[in-house]
Amino acid sequence: MKTVSDYFGCMVFDDRVMKATLSSKVYASLKKTIDEGLPLDASVANAVATAMKDWAVSKGATHYTHWFQPLTGITAEKHDSFISPSPDGGVIMEFSGKELIKGEPDASSFPSGGIRATFEARGYTAWDPTSYAFIKGKTLCIPTAFCSYGSEALDKKTPLLRSMEALNKQALRILKLFGNTDVKCVRTSVGPEQEYFLVTKEMYDQRPDLRFTGRTLFGAKPPKGQEMDDHYFGVIKPKVAEFMEDLNEELWKLGILAKTEHNEVAPAQHELAPIYSTTNVATDHNQLTMEIMQKVAAKHGLVCLLHEKPFAGVNGSGKHNNWSMATDTGVNLLSPGDTPYENAQFLLFLCAVIQAVDDYQDLLRISVATAGNDHRLGANEAPPAVVSMFLGDELTAVLEALESGKPYAGTEKTQMKLGVDVLPKFNRDTTDRNRTSPFAFTGNKFEFRMLGSSNSISCANIMLNSAVAESLKIYADKLEKAADFETALHDIICDTIKTHKRILFNGNGYDDSWIKEATEVRGLCNYRTTPDCMPRLLDKKNADMLIGHGVFSDIELKSRCDIMLENYCKTVMIEANTMVLMSSTDIIPAVASYTSDLAKAVNTKKAADSSIACGYELSTLKKLSDLTDSIMIKTEELSEVLEETQKISDIEEQSYAIRDKLLTKMSELRALCDQAETKTAKTYWPYPSYADLLFGVK
Ligand code: ADP
Ligand code: MG
Repeated sequence: MKTVSDYFGCMVFDDRVMKATLSSKVYASLKKTIDEGLPLDASVANAVATAMKDWAVSKGATHYTHWFQPLTGITAEKHDSFISPSPDGGVIMEFSGKELIKGEPDASSFPSGGIRATFEARGYTAWDPTSYAFIKGKTLCIPTAFCSYGSEALDKKTPLLRSMEALNKQALRILKLFGNTDVKCVRTSVGPEQEYFLVTKEMYDQRPDLRFTGRTLFGAKPPKGQEMDDHYFGVIKPKVAEFMEDLNEELWKLGILAKTEHNEVAPAQHELAPIYSTTNVATDHNQLTMEIMQKVAAKHGLVCLLHEKPFAGVNGSGKHNNWSMATDTGVNLLSPGDTPYENAQFLLFLCAVIQAVDDYQDLLRISVATAGNDHRLGANEAPPAVVSMFLGDELTAVLEALESGKPYAGTEKTQMKLGVDVLPKFNRDTTDRNRTSPFAFTGNKFEFRMLGSSNSISCANIMLNSAVAESLKIYADKLEKAADFETALHDIICDTIKTHKRILFNGNGYDDSWIKEATEVRGLCNYRTTPDCMPRLLDKKNADMLIGHGVFSDIELKSRCDIMLENYCKTVMIEANTMVLMSSTDIIPAVASYTSDLAKAVNTKKAADSSIACGYELSTLKKLSDLTDSIMIKTEELSEVLEETQKISDIEEQSYAIRDKLLTKMSELRALCDQAETKTAKTYWPYPSYADLLFGVK
């Protein structure tokens, strides 16, 4: 029997394959490019391309593609075959260094927010050698960045790589001051936990809302939801277990370190977590994971729902972005050290994150803002739309002691005053966990929990890396000039705690009283919806920081704001359209047919015996007939509001109209239809119910 280690990564052109197939000179040169970001010369590129092609062809590949992440959030690929005619009438398989390094997809239909007029259709893709090429089906996929000919980024990978570089640069300055001269680079790592729902394909096909929008737009509450908490970590059903087994195998072949899997809180909800890896690789892997999940589900007669809120009244799906920074020498900078001196360095990096999260709360909120995630943030299960940080009791006590200059009553009773030598030794706290915090310290990493399940993790990490780079820059500027390093360091730590402690909150983030305190007393941002926060992307403070670190250009930033708002508007308008369709062509006719049968039944019964009261029939008939009229009127109203909304040409204005009017009409219509569902005989209702969907996979 084949074991996992036999096939793990067998579809990846990874370091093992490179070593085996490249000459030592070419390998060394490629390695330098990967590790140090140096450009690759043409002869090396040709050699790598040939080795890659030979390897891919030996695995059955016939095509290659530059695989990239346009701003739509999904991945894109355009396949070219390796074949090239040979003089004797046959073909040979060819792939050049030029084709490896640069591609020119016709990119006119990808959103660019006005960067690239459609007549100027060309953009180019550029190989990201830090993320391994892999084979999917019969295609060699080459991870690439996607840019316009003016070099503006049209994708999510480019700014992500730039943000990693920004953080690297500033972190190295700090590390040097602490005497860590052997460190060559600092990289951020991410382990994204991915939640999803599984429903049967058969039921999915019967629901236009799921097919067109990924979420249910109608559906009365099931008699049983998640009240019993019996799904979480419960026994995995056989069909789901088969799916997970198959999924793991596919992911492992692609070198994706899928590690844990379990049921989630809601029925039919599950989670997959990989072992963490470097942020850009983790991002590529998460995109691939989402894609493979859907493919494998289809093989099992299932559909994998990645929407943030597929079912009202049931927990939505998120993605937890576990984030840390580490040196190439293997030191996790968010891990408390063994000596006070190491702890001083740790505390400074910790402060950098605290300041970053406080100063750029709005950017973090923006980075997870989508129409889908708006249903989740602030609902009962996800972190609220207010960003705050959880540090746990011990670290909080350490910071408080530092700020007040009072003794720290932790493991060592040390006066925490000037100088790093007297900073206390403390153990990292792994005992207390807070699952309601949007941004929680979990021992040696931060867990950012606001991401929606379908989000690309690039956006959140771009903002996080850049914001932390900014705090580190401010610190490095001060420390490099300081007459006395230890005093300056102590002052920075104390000042940061004083200025930014409003962002620290260890209590229950789901509590209404917290939202009140956060906004009214602490002055934290509470952007409930995408239209509320997205325009803030262009605020001077945010633009200055992001442009300053070279993460975005001015024009890229503007285009992104437009694209995100456009995406929001389109998403909700498609939902509204789908509701109108479902209500007019399925729901109203279904209820009418049932009421008509009820009326016929009354006539038949009365004809047989006029003294029969027909209480059930008449009362249901009356209620449902009235409801049908209301549904019809509401559907017309929704239709009108939708039409008005579609006419608004300014994207910001359109998004406000959606937030204030369209979504309200949608929920009013839904309430009426859900009421009708509970009164209509099941055989007449056109769609599988919530109970069917949530408990349908055996
Ligand atoms: P939980 O569900 O308790 O939050 P999981 O084990 O499901 O924990 O997920 C934790 C995630 O964090 C995993 O993907 C893991 O690989 C990742 N992780 C662990 N250590 C680090 C680290 N230093 N940096 C980034 N991610 C990490
Ligand atoms: Mg988690």
